[in-house]
Amino acid sequence: METDPTRMCELLVGLPDVHILGVDDDVNGFVCIYIESRAQRPGCAHCGVFAQVKDRSPVELVDLPCFGRPARLIWHKCRWRCPEPSCPVGSWTEEDPRIGAPRMAMSDRAGRWVTEQIGRYARSVNEIALELGCDWHTVNDTVIAYGTALVDDDPKRFGVVRALGLDEVLFVRVGPFRRQEYSTQMVDVGAGQLLDVVPGRSGVEPTAWLERQGKEWRDKVRYATLDMSSSYRLVFTTMVPDAVQVADPFHVVKLANTKLVLL
Ligand SMILES: [Zn+2]
Repeated sequence: METDPTRMCELLVGLPDVHILGVDDDVNGFVCIYIESRAQRPGCAHCGVFAQVKDRSPVELVDLPCFGRPARLIWHKCRWRCPEPSCPVGSWTEEDPRIGAPRMAMSDRAGRWVTEQIGRYARSVNEIALELGCDWHTVNDTVIAYGTALVDDDPKRFGVVRALGLDEVLFVRVGPFRRQEYSTQMVDVGAGQLLDVVPGRSGVEPTAWLERQGKEWRDKVRYATLDMSSSYRLVFTTMVPDAVQVADPFHVVKLANTKLVLL
């Protein structure tokens, strides 16, 4: 068991090779943990001369909640400079991806956590932003940055799809008037599996998506299911002309009920 107070603090913060400079337990409701890197003085990448500290500037990162309270990591990042007068390298800022990736507003561990919460457990961006006490865009930008690396963009990842479905889904409400933004979902109807999501509910993006899959993949699609939207029908007629178009029962019954009510 560790009993040294400094080391106990480092263990609780749980970051490798950092000094804990201080902890502020209530800055507008956040626990703020001030850190600096314990890394060795680096050599200049150009001439190899040991760098000198130019200054340190604090960078605030959204971190994982600490014992149930939202937290911020204040990383006093070192700016190094090369002391060699003839060297063209001026100064540079230290990086440590174990603490936070360059240009991200969130710590690395928080970035991984939010990506898993949204990608694996289907929690909403808004819900996570509320939990971390940060802006919606901070979470969304992080998920795009971390999640893109996890998506295998190989068209062959879908395998053979015999029955392809297109359906519009309300994706998000944006702006002060909560304007509705729709998405189109591509579904392998036979396997009951979501294949992909593209922006909008016109035929433009689904057509481009089908184009990207290649003709060989499209030729194996035997059935195309849709909600009787004319734009989706045009997508199928153009891109998978030999597939039998099927209106899914839910939308057929819904339309029939509407007509019955009108009668
Ligand atoms: Zn140098």
